[in-house]
Amino acid sequence: MMPIEATQSQLHLRHVLQASIQVFDSDEGSFEEGVEMLRAVLPDTTIIAALDLIDRDGVVKYSTSWGQHHYEVLGTTSTYAVFPHLNAASTVISSYCTCPSFAYAVLISESHLMCKHVLAVCLADRMSRCVVRPIEDDSLLLKLMGRIPPP
Ligand SMILES: [Zn+2]
Repeated sequence: MMPIEATQSQLHLRHVLQASIQVFDSDEGSFEEGVEMLRAVLPDTTIIAALDLIDRDGVVKYSTSWGQHHYEVLGTTSTYAVFPHLNAASTVISSYCTCPSFAYAVLISESHLMCKHVLAVCLADRMSRCVVRPIEDDSLLLKLMGRIPPP
């Protein structure tokens, strides 16, 4: 079990991270400011990799007719399903990605707050840089059933 101080500082970092992401929108000035803020809580490599994914139109946002969204990030070797907002009230885990580094760096070692895919989805959403695709209702269901890990 983690000491209380460590848990609180993790929580603080999460708040800073959320605040940094909120700074981003489609205008240039906020981009510079947001990147500066992110650098306080995430490694440069994660930030650069996330921005690179966005530049390559790698963030795909599937929308259903009833307004649900499902995100996928096209990495260099695989496509990962990203769930950026699991439960805002949860202090344990607020997002999820199916990539291996999320499992190791975020869930097991807790050395990172999020992987580049989750960051890419959060930022692309803020900057309206997602590739939006409509999705048939049945195939979304299959996607979700196939990708969400067992509890
Ligand atoms: Zn990931």
